[in-house]
Amino acid sequence: MKKYAIGIDLGGTYTKLALVDKSGRIRCRAKLPTSAYKTKEALLTAIVAEIGAVLKESRLTLKDLAGVGIGVPGLVAFERGLVYYLTNVPGWKNVALKKILEAKLKVPVLVDNDVNLMALGESRFGAGKGARNAVCITLGTGVGGGIIIDGGLYRGTSSAAGEVGHMPLKEEGLKCNCGSTGCLERYVGNRYIVDEIKDKIKSGRATKIRELLRGDLSLLTPEVISAAAKRKDALAIECWRRVGGRIGVTLSGVINLLNPEKIIIGGGMAEAGEVLFKAIRDTVKERALPVSGNAVKIVKARLGNDAGIVGAAALFF
Ligand SMILES: [Zn+2]
Repeated sequence: MKKYAIGIDLGGTYTKLALVDKSGRIRCRAKLPTSAYKTKEALLTAIVAEIGAVLKESRLTLKDLAGVGIGVPGLVAFERGLVYYLTNVPGWKNVALKKILEAKLKVPVLVDNDVNLMALGESRFGAGKGARNAVCITLGTGVGGGIIIDGGLYRGTSSAAGEVGHMPLKEEGLKCNCGSTGCLERYVGNRYIVDEIKDKIKSGRATKIRELLRGDLSLLTPEVISAAAKRKDALAIECWRRVGGRIGVTLSGVINLLNPEKIIIGGGMAEAGEVLFKAIRDTVKERALPVSGNAVKIVKARLGNDAGIVGAAALFF
C-alpha cells in the first residue's frame, strides 16, 4: 500500500491541503483563500497546482500517492463523488468533483462531507483512536455530525447520515433553517445562543458580559460567553449548562440508538470546556439507558482544524 495521500479541506474561507502519511502525520501543507477564486474552475486549477507544489517540496510525485481525498461543506453523493451543493461557497451545484479532479490528476479521488471526514480523522488518529464505534459532532454556527461504525464511516442511503443538528429536540419548536421545526441546531447554534443571552441582558440581568464587551452587545460571541463563564459569571455559566443540557438530550437519543464507545465533540463551541461537557455528561447520565450511557465516553476532539484534512487522507488508509 502506498504510504501517502493528499487530504483537502475545502472551506468557505480557506481551502487547506496537506500531504499526510499513513500514520496520520501531516508532512507538508498549504492553504488557499477560497473566496479569492472567482470560479470553481479557477479554484480547482489552483488546488491542482498546489498539490504539485506540495509533492515537489516533499520530493514525491503523483505516483507516490494512494489518492486525493477532499472534504466539502455540503451534501455529497459519495460513490459518484458528486457535490450536490455547498453551503457558503457560491457556484457549486451538482459538480462531478471526483470526475473532474481524476481527469486532471490521474490518481483516485474521493469526495465526502467535511464533518464525515473530521469524524474519520478523529476516530483513526485523534480523540477516538482505538474506538470501533463513535459519533463525532461539531458545534458552531451549525451542528454537524459523523458516524463511525466498525471503524468505518456510516453514510446512509443518500450519504446524508449523521445530521445530529437536525434531530428533533422539541415536538413543537422554533422553525429551523432546514425547513423543519424544533431541531437541536435551532437551540444551540452560535447565533441562537448569542440571541438568547442578548435578550436576557436587555431585560436587565446583571452580568460581566457587559464589561467584557464595553457595553457593545453587538460584539457578543460564544467566545465572550466562555470568557465570562471562566470568570464565574452566573448568566454565562447558566447559558452553557442550558446548552449542554439540550445537547445531552439529543445525544441520549443518539447513544440509545447506536450504543457508541465514544462521542467526540469539536467545533468552536467545544472551547467552552468543562462547564459545557459536564452538563452534557450529566444529562446523558440522567437520560440515556444506563447500559449505553455508562459505556460511552464523551470527549473533546483533539485534532482541531487538522481533523478534516487528516480524515480526507484517511479515506485511502
Ligand atoms: Zn433543522
